[in-house]
Amino acid sequence: MKNLKNDIVYTSKNTLDLGLNLGSEGNVSVRRKDTIFITPSGIETATLKETLISEVDINGNVKNNKKPSSEILMHLYIYRNRPEISAIVHCHSMWASILSCSRKKIPSFHYMVAEFGGNDIKCAEYATFGTRKLAKNVLKVLKERNGCLISNHGQLTIANNLNNALDLAVSLEKLSKQYYFCSFLKNTKILSSKEMHKVLKLFKDYKIKH
Ligand code: 13P
Ligand code: ZN
Repeated sequence: MKNLKNDIVYTSKNTLDLGLNLGSEGNVSVRRKDTIFITPSGIETATLKETLISEVDINGNVKNNKKPSSEILMHLYIYRNRPEISAIVHCHSMWASILSCSRKKIPSFHYMVAEFGGNDIKCAEYATFGTRKLAKNVLKVLKERNGCLISNHGQLTIANNLNNALDLAVSLEKLSKQYYFCSFLKNTKILSSKEMHKVLKLFKDYKIKH
């Protein structure tokens, strides 16, 4: 458990180093058996330490007296509905946040969109941060996907471990920046669903699982 809390602190600080978050923006969690380990609310990530990580059960009961992230419901809704998911990274990264203000999905302008599970990356409808409504909106657009934009807010990625969730956050930020510029080009072509289907099939065997 010490290692696990260490990993959460390390990943959170990595979101700062990678330029995905500033100050106390964003949150990170991991599920281990029946417990969700999540970053605390409103803490400057640069000062985060293991002893501040909150432990919450699947019903939202805090087990160790440490106040969890204000987005605990968003994390809980995902863990309750996606048994294969063990890690969540939420960021206010620059380009994903900019795109999220248009409240539109990212279409298949690049084949790497398939890394997120389908032929688009959806944008969750706007709701106030920390609310049940936002948790529901995010869960909805994660159907058959492992990442999404969140309207006027940022992005969220989910995976079987923290490294993979963080890698996806970096990828989503890159795709957001690329799509921002492509959306101004007259001639940007969108890949057909047939082509994306082919890519999705290739992706199944492409990455070495770890
Ligand atoms: P917390 O500090 O409560 O995790 O909030 C940060 C955030 O990103 C809210 O959406
Ligand atoms: Zn946020």
